[in-house]
Amino acid sequence: MEQLLNLIDGELRPAIGGEWLDVYTPATGQVYGQLPDSDERDVELAVQAANRAFPAWNALGREGRSDALLRLAKAIEDDLEGFVADESRDNGKPLSLARRVDIPRAIANFRFFATAILHFHSEAHLMDDVAVNYTDRQPIGAVGAISPWNLPLYLFTWKIAPALAAGNCVVAKPSEVTPLTAYRLSTLCERAGIPRGVLNIVHGLGPKVGAAITAHPKLPAVSFTGGTRTGAEIARVAAPMFKKLSLELGGKNPVLVFADCDFDKAVKTTVRSSFTNQGQICLCGSRILVERSIYDRFRDAFVEQVKALRVGDPKDADSDLGAVVSQAHLETVLRYIDLAREEGGSVLCGGERVRLSGDLKDGWFIAPTVIEGLGPTCRTNQEEIFGPVVTLQPFDDEADALALANATPYGLASVIWTRDGQRTHRVARALQAGIVWVNCWMIRDLRTPFGGVKQSGVGREGGVDALRFFTEAKNVCIKL
Ligand code: NDP
Repeated sequence: MEQLLNLIDGELRPAIGGEWLDVYTPATGQVYGQLPDSDERDVELAVQAANRAFPAWNALGREGRSDALLRLAKAIEDDLEGFVADESRDNGKPLSLARRVDIPRAIANFRFFATAILHFHSEAHLMDDVAVNYTDRQPIGAVGAISPWNLPLYLFTWKIAPALAAGNCVVAKPSEVTPLTAYRLSTLCERAGIPRGVLNIVHGLGPKVGAAITAHPKLPAVSFTGGTRTGAEIARVAAPMFKKLSLELGGKNPVLVFADCDFDKAVKTTVRSSFTNQGQICLCGSRILVERSIYDRFRDAFVEQVKALRVGDPKDADSDLGAVVSQAHLETVLRYIDLAREEGGSVLCGGERVRLSGDLKDGWFIAPTVIEGLGPTCRTNQEEIFGPVVTLQPFDDEADALALANATPYGLASVIWTRDGQRTHRVARALQAGIVWVNCWMIRDLRTPFGGVKQSGVGREGGVDALRFFTEAKNVCIKL
């Protein structure tokens, strides 16, 4: 049985309380190891270590910090296959996806922010002959980071890389459901020359470790990615403490398919935007809206391609979908499929658990599921399911498409399929979403602002936005 450990003040150590939590492999449904069931005492040690390490880390300067983070990126790259295997084992995602997306992106996150900090500049405002103002952006000190299970190392590093590059020290909590690659990262820090206390990783439950990070007075900024309900709880605790908060939350993303689209590309990419990572990406399209004149043709072609997807062993190169992340999540997704049926939806394909054989017989697999016949206000089309389940709805014209697209409390990502340039601009502007893809999905330039509107979040990550979040701006006004 593997035992994972916290990284606090440069030391790998169990929780102070000596308690452990089980961690599972989704593809087998079996326990593979244990992680520390930490609490506020462990968080306290980590916060003290981070605050102690801060002055020297900040004093290292941009180039020194950049070098250290580039070494960490290289250390992950040198151990790529180890990280890939761990991510797939811990999360249930196909090995091929972890190798193509998750781990390369974690490396890219470090490289991107290690170099972005070298180019991070501030502004000056000249008031004719009166005065000159310049903006001094300083790191905050010790900051908190809390991340989810769907893209474990990818999203964990998306937070800690800009925080560290900007000169902060970090107390981070990965999801207790998928702690393995964050642990593997913690074993590389010393070798990569990250000074002790600069990065602290505390494992454990959200309501214990996450809540202690949120409430700690010596962590004046918290960056969180996860569900909207958890985000609301974090905001409730942090707001009266006047903490700086970045909240990246849930979504119910629309895909708008107009009749003039490149049909084959739209179908093929929509299969991918629906079911990559078993539909467990906050950016997956879950409500597919199709212009009525091509609705039947699109539905038939889409369902045919979805039926051809292979649900199988994450280790097999030809598996398109692996397992969903946990028994609890499996049950939630299956309950939503039952709800869709109760609400009058027709299940066109999937709709059930998949039972594989041998070691995988108890794995948490679900067939990719397509549902039609539901209106925009039912729970299936309003609530985030976050699994391999999508709905199809027809629309009559552009206004109708926009009304359907904007008809949820969420506003994270959206996709438009059209060849009409004017329409592209009109619809992109009118969509209530932080991210719009046109004739594509999941193309990511790390310089762009990333985040959602409405209940999908507050603030933006990525590029300069992340570096601004992890620094405080001070205006210095000098009389001329
Ligand atoms: P959760 O909100 O359940 O958990 C996210 C993290 O918060 C976990 O580390 C969790 O710990 C921790 N946590 C739980 N309760 C608390 C608390 N009271 N105080 C502080 N921290 C807490 O989300 P999931 O892990 O289930 O992730 C899925 C959600 O994340 C979906 O809604 C998805 O849309 C969203 N998401 C959003 C993205 C975006 O960029 N907008 C990107 C990816 C996902 P523990 O694991 O122990 O519960």
